[in-house]
Order: sequence, then C-alpha cells, then structure tokens
Amino acid sequence: MQIACPVCGGFNYEQLFIKRDEIFVRCTVCTLMLINPPPDLSQSTATYDEDYSHAYIRKAPKKLKRCAGWVRRMQRRFVRSGKWLDVGCSAGFVVKAASDLGFDAYGVELEPAAVRWASDVLNLANVRCGLLEAQRYDSASFDVISLYDVIEHVPDLNRLLDELYRILAPGGIIEIRTPDLGHWRTPRDLSKWKEVKPSEHLYYFNSATLQKLFELHDFRTAYARPMFNPALDIYFRKSA
Ligand SMILES: [Zn+2]
Repeated sequence: MQIACPVCGGFNYEQLFIKRDEIFVRCTVCTLMLINPPPDLSQSTATYDEDYSHAYIRKAPKKLKRCAGWVRRMQRRFVRSGKWLDVGCSAGFVVKAASDLGFDAYGVELEPAAVRWASDVLNLANVRCGLLEAQRYDSASFDVISLYDVIEHVPDLNRLLDELYRILAPGGIIEIRTPDLGHWRTPRDLSKWKEVKPSEHLYYFNSATLQKLFELHDFRTAYARPMFNPALDIYFRKSA
C-alpha cells in the first residue's frame, strides 16, 4: 500500500520508473522521490550484511583521515566540543575521529559485525548495535548529531526526526549528508543514477525537500555546504 509523502503529507504522486520490481514515484507537491509502496523491512535490512561492513573496514586508514576532516569542519563552523552522536556509524570511524579531536563521542549502528569491529579494533566503548529509537538516550543530551549517508535508508522519517529533536540539546547541530536529486550532475534519466538502489535507498531528497522535512520538526537550516558531487551536506540547528 502507498504511504503518504513524509514531507508534505499528501498522496499526489507521478510514477517515474520501475527498478527491480520497485516503483519510484515523485510527489508532485513537494518533489520528494521515494519508493512507494515501500519495500518490506525484511528486504531493506537484507543489505546490512557482513560484506557491507567489510567494504568499509578495508579502507580504514583512509576513512579515518576523511572523518577527521568532517569533525574539524564542524569544530571550525559550529561546535568545538561536547557530546557527538553518529547515527548509522558503521565501524565507528566518525566516532573515533570525534573522540580523538576532543568530543565525548557515541555511535549507533544496525550491522553487528561493524559494531564488533568498532569495539574490538577501534576500542570504542560507546558504539551500540540497534535502532536509534531503541537506545533511549537522555533528552537534550547531544551537542552534535551526524547522519552520513543514512537518512535515505530510514523507513519512518518523521519518527526519526522526532527522536533526533528529543535527544539534541537546545542550540545543537545536526549534519545530514545524503544524495542530491537536484544536483546539476545528477543524471536527467533518474533510473540511471547510481544512487538509485531499490530496497536500500528509500528516499531521494533535493535541498528543498530535506529542509522542508527538518522545518516540519522545528529545526532551522544553519548552513548548506556547496557540493561538487551530487550530494547534500546540510547543517540544521535546534533553537536555543
Ligand atoms: Zn510531498
């Protein structure tokens, strides 16, 4: 069954294409693209297998260096220290980098092999396995929350945003990185875009739809970083 558009609440869709039996539609009101009807959960979690995290682990040194760059950018622009939560943290590279640069850093990840690696190899005690909502973090407890290439995987966006709002401290920052449907380098024929991944990437934002979703939950845009690659990197603030 079709779901309502999580950004504008409507059922006004045009069908764009079908890939691996999944129907990709665009909301004609707000322009969000999504798989609708959504794939069932057993299919969309099937991609979080051990191979998925091994691919990251092979690139560990390079990944750690890149993540340190992301943490330093956050420090230069917004928050120098405090509590950082990386949602969908994979093997914990962002958590490790944030911790090395002075944050009290936490992570949550669905894939058990990645979490084991974070704890056994990177010695991270604060990386937990499971859904964000199941961790019951304290309200208003994080100064920074990051979701790098995660939000497009999450089935219930409004439930996620409610939880992010609850656990973020007043004045805190959320950084979201996700593929950009509206980027000039994104192919016109969207069925050929490499980010189109049936059962895995459920939602496809442009900067307007991502900002509208966060505004619905009382965040405001603090900074939208210009990107050469077809990705969005937007920082949202919860009012103080
Ligand atoms: Zn919509």
